[in-house]
Amino acid sequence: SADHKLLSGVLDFSRKSIRHVMTPIAKAFSISADALFDYETLEAIMESGYSRIPVHDGPDRNIDYLLVVKHLALLSPEDRTPIRTILQFYGKPVQRMFDDTTLDKALNQFKRAGHSNLALVQRVNNDGPGDPFYETVGIVTLEDVIEELIMDE
Ligand code: ATP
Ligand code: ATP
Repeated sequence: SADHKLLSGVLDFSRKSIRHVMTPIAKAFSISADALFDYETLEAIMESGYSRIPVHDGPDRNIDYLLVVKHLALLSPEDRTPIRTILQFYGKPVQRMFDDTTLDKALNQFKRAGHSNLALVQRVNNDGPGDPFYETVGIVTLEDVIEELIMDE
């Protein structure tokens, strides 16, 4: 029944972690801070259909900022402005959450953080012989979290 579905969604909410609802980092659409905002970049962004784009930087492809697509409306692709320059005006620092964060905690963090409804998901990588390190494994949005609540399953 519908009641049963909603109830099980609510119960899962405090048990399930964001690892199970995130988009894996390999599937994330991101752009380089070194890229230029030209027609080609604009087309790629529009084709992706996403409204928040993580920006990666350097050989390690570290992600520290998001581009919010609607901010680009004020810029002309003819100017070929470097993404790095755009970040200085419009970049939003990206939030991070650990992969074992439960959905209820993630919802609270999104609420506290205000408008940036996308977070990087990181985990502690203990797999190799070396020191443990933080690894970014995915992105999670408010939509991924909320969808679990009303999931038809
Ligand atoms: P909005 O609905 O606010 O326009 P959106 O459609 O860009 O945003 P969401 O609705 O937050 O994105 O998320 C929809 C799905 O797309 C989620 O599963 C989310 O993880 C995924 N997603 C969001 N942004 C990206 C991105 N840049 N790259 C890959 N997947 C993304
Ligand atoms: P600082 O060392 O100046 O405090 P930081 O870059 O480590 O800054 P934090 O917010 O402290 O930022 O990072 C939380 C955790 O996320 C850190 O332990 C770090 O290893 C990891 N981390 C930091 N920056 C990135 C990044 N760009 N991509 C993936 N993981 C990161």
